[in-house]
Amino acid sequence: MSIHSKKYGVIGNPISHSRSPLIHQAFALQTDIPLIYSAILAPLDGFTDTVNRFRTEGGLGLNVTVPFKHEAFAYCTDHSERALQAGAVNTLIFSEDPQAPARGDNTDGVGLMRDLAYNGIELTGKRILLLGAGGAARGVLGPLIAANPANILVANRNGETAGQLIRDFGADSRPQGVVSLSACALADFPLDGIAFDLIINATSASLSGECPALPDTVLHINTIAYDMAYGTAPTVFMDWASAKGARALDGLGMLVEQAAESFYLWHGVYPQTEQVRARLREELHSS
Ligand code: NDP
Repeated sequence: MSIHSKKYGVIGNPISHSRSPLIHQAFALQTDIPLIYSAILAPLDGFTDTVNRFRTEGGLGLNVTVPFKHEAFAYCTDHSERALQAGAVNTLIFSEDPQAPARGDNTDGVGLMRDLAYNGIELTGKRILLLGAGGAARGVLGPLIAANPANILVANRNGETAGQLIRDFGADSRPQGVVSLSACALADFPLDGIAFDLIINATSASLSGECPALPDTVLHINTIAYDMAYGTAPTVFMDWASAKGARALDGLGMLVEQAAESFYLWHGVYPQTEQVRARLREELHSS
């Protein structure tokens, strides 16, 4: 890469686990677009300062990960429809003037939907349990509703946040017959034997080797347990679901697909994802 390569990156805390640099560098090679893409650790109380410094050093775009998607939303003065719907931003788009307003978008929803489709997972009429109510859950809830499942239960450690999330998506005003949305605290999870077709873990529990506590009755023989996290080994959530006979998937495919959408927003070219998925999977298995 030359010193004239454009600068991009991913910002988060923690960040060392992120495979985004590898993905964007692979897309850059594939499309012949010279760029530098780095992983940037921001102090928990230093998101804005870190972003501003990156911009004064010529940075043109950032992906945003845990726990900064809400702060990234607040940082922007211009939002895409998807970001406005989610109230969370995972892609920041800057102009060359570091003082100019920043645009925020959210590609998590597209990323998840493309990966579910890639894995042959149908959502129409299905019962979905969404664990977590942070930036990632906010990003995917709109597209999940649009896929017309029978119902979606959002369960979060903090039940208030889960309630607020579904209210933000119109739960109180939703007409009868359209997707039914409900929310609860994980500690108050209904124990009356409801089983789900798809359980999506959008909590960050896996990053610390934990798993949201759920009754085994949430699983049936064809349940798909999807963890947005990914790593060298299956997460505790995936192990729990697999041990009960469910099909468990990690978030590696979603990561590649949301990255492809960000790449398109920054460069106007849509990269191929198949080879990058395979390469990343291989790297994870061999590390
Ligand atoms: P946020 O920090 O915005 O939200 C974290 C969420 O996890 C909150 O709902 C929080 O609950 C919950 N949580 C944290 N720790 C625990 C725990 N020990 N037990 C139960 N719940 C917990 O993070 P994001 O929403 O941005 O990211 C969530 C996860 O999704 C991360 O693992 C991230 O890596 C992954 N992700 C993956 C993507 C991909 O492309 N594969 C894309 C986006 C995210 P509370 O509100 O109670 O604090």
